[in-house]
Formats: sequence, C-alpha cells, structure tokens
Amino acid sequence: GLMDNLEEAATAIKMHDNFVLTTHINPDGDALGSLMGLGLALLNAGKNAVMIMPHPIPVAFQFMPGSRQVQKTSDVLARFDLGITLDCTDITRAGEEAQKVLQRAGKLLNIDHHISNQYFGDLNVVDPQAAATGEIIYDLLLKAKMPVTSEIATNLYTAIITDTGSFQHQNTTAKCLRTAALLLDCGAAHRVVQQHLYEQRSLESLRLLARGLESLSLNEEGTVAWMTISRDSLYSSGAAVDDSEGLIDYVKSLKGVEVGIVFKEVNPSEIKVSFRSNNYLDVNKLAAHFGGGGHERAAGCTINGELGDIEQLVIRKTEEQLFAMNENSGGPRK
Ligand code: 5GP
Ligand code: MN
Ligand code: MN
Repeated sequence: GLMDNLEEAATAIKMHDNFVLTTHINPDGDALGSLMGLGLALLNAGKNAVMIMPHPIPVAFQFMPGSRQVQKTSDVLARFDLGITLDCTDITRAGEEAQKVLQRAGKLLNIDHHISNQYFGDLNVVDPQAAATGEIIYDLLLKAKMPVTSEIATNLYTAIITDTGSFQHQNTTAKCLRTAALLLDCGAAHRVVQQHLYEQRSLESLRLLARGLESLSLNEEGTVAWMTISRDSLYSSGAAVDDSEGLIDYVKSLKGVEVGIVFKEVNPSEIKVSFRSNNYLDVNKLAAHFGGGGHERAAGCTINGELGDIEQLVIRKTEEQLFAMNENSGGPRK
C-alpha cells in the first residue's frame, strides 16, 4: 500500500547519500516546490543532493528558496545512487537530458500524485488523493524525521497553493488544508507566496489576457469554452508563453461551462492544449486521447499541427466525450 511505499521511500532516503532530483518540463509551483522542498531537506541532512532542470526557473518562481541551487541538466555528468522524479506522470516528462542522468542512477524513486502515473520507478510513491506532490513530500519528511525549515515549508506551501488554485479546486481536501496549516506553523511565508504568484503580473501578461479574452469562444450548448493564444497575440502583446499561465481559470469561470480549454501556439505547428473541467468530465482521459495526461479536473497535451485544425479536432473530441457522458447519465450532471 501507499503507506508502505512512503516508509520504504523514507528508508531509501536515509540509506543513500548521493541524490539527483528533477521534475517535469514547463514546471509549475508544485513541480518546483516539491523539487526544492525535498532537495533542501536532503542538503540540510548533510547529503549530496543535486537538483536539475533543463531550462532556467521561470522568473515568477525565482522567489522560491533554493531556486538558485537548481542546476542545468546538461551540466551534470556525475553518477548518483538514487534518482528522484517529482510530479512526473512518466519519465519522458523530465525531458530527454534528465532521462539520461536518471538512467545512470542506481535506483529511481517516483513521487507523484497524477492518476495517470505510469509507475516507472524502482519505487513508486503515487497518491492521486494528494492535492499536490508537495503534500506527499511533507508526509515523507515527517516519516523520515527530517526537519521542515521555513524555507522548505514555503516551497511545499507554494506547491499546495498552485495545484489547488488557492484552495478552490476539487482536490482541496481537509488533509491538504491541514498540511497547509502545519506548513504555516513551520514558517511558510504566506504573503510572500501570494505576492509573487498573484501580485507581480507584467503589463504584457495582462495585455495577453485581453487578447485571450477577445478570442474566447463557446460551443452551441455553452458547455465548452476555449481561448486561443496564437503567435500573433503573443507578438502583439509583447508577452511570453509563460505569461499565459492562469488564463484557463477565466475560461472555466464562465457560467454554464463544464470544460475550459486553452490552445497555445508555443511554436509554429506545436500546440500546447490545457484542459480544465468543473464538475464531471474526466479531462485526463480526454488529454490521454491526444498523448497527454494529468488529473480528472486538470490535464494537458501537446499536439503538432496547424492551430485551427487542432482546435477543431480537440473541440469535436471534447463534445463527443461530454455528450457520451450526458447520455449515459440520462442528462447533464450537475
Ligand atoms: P497545464 O494545463 O496547467 O499545463 O497542466 C494541467 C495538468 O496536466 C498538470 O498536472 C500537468 O502536469 C498535466 N499535463 C499537462 N500537459 C501534459 C502532458 O503533455 N502530458 C502529461 N502526461 N501531463 C500533462
Ligand atoms: Mn505539475
Ligand atoms: Mn502536481
């Protein structure tokens, strides 16, 4: 069971001295909070722990303690006793270079909370009930009797805040709120986290929001809404792709909408699709149809092709799955 795996993971951490840790590409607050929360705990315990990422940490997350200690994956040549992936459904999510580093490690520990996790580790601690991977890391540190410093607490608190949308999403459980409270007891910097995540928007990113809202469309029933972030809207607003983080919340906030979708033209002919559902559609299944994954209420995928074609394809599939569900349950579920 899960508790046995947590115990085993705690033992593995105590037994080894030489770690490499990583998380998924295009990292979010949970990815980075888990990475640096566990990484700092290992370093504080006097172990060698190398945190790696293929790209620089997005500016918005650079306030997180430990972010300057994260190294560029391609710079890391050493071998490690234990590799740890955090918040990754499968090993490809870590990026190609990290895969090579992880494969050179003696053993692989996979810590995640995605329902679509592929159990690719030698040891897997996967809890789809956890709101964030950071919530699991808190339990792991407790189990391993490793102190949760205020720096670690700020990382794990950021993980929970971002993955629950500040305690708004369905994954907000009593347990996750309790963990958040305990992290505040440990000195997590609540206001600092809020300020950096939600009160530091650039003018360009708000202009991008305006472009995005102009593009907002709805299906006939008003149950599926989508927004398009084209190369053009990025260019005309002066924003970067990272600035589109959070736009999907506007899409799913529209009254009557069950599924919100954002199409981002990250490169010409490379479209990143984000899905959110409010009450009942399993968007993990929907994203999986296009080679992606995630959670029941939040998932994503990347599809190659022309923006307009992909929009049509994805919206058709979304409606198909939505209509199938409504038929099976004898009408729209509330
Ligand atoms: P977002 O839409 O915010 O990028 O991602 C929502 C959720 O889906 C996150 O938990 C993220 O890890 C997951 N996700 C996003 N894109 C992909 C993807 O291409 N593959 C997989 N397996 N998961 C994804
Ligand atoms: Mn994540
Ligand atoms: Mn997560």
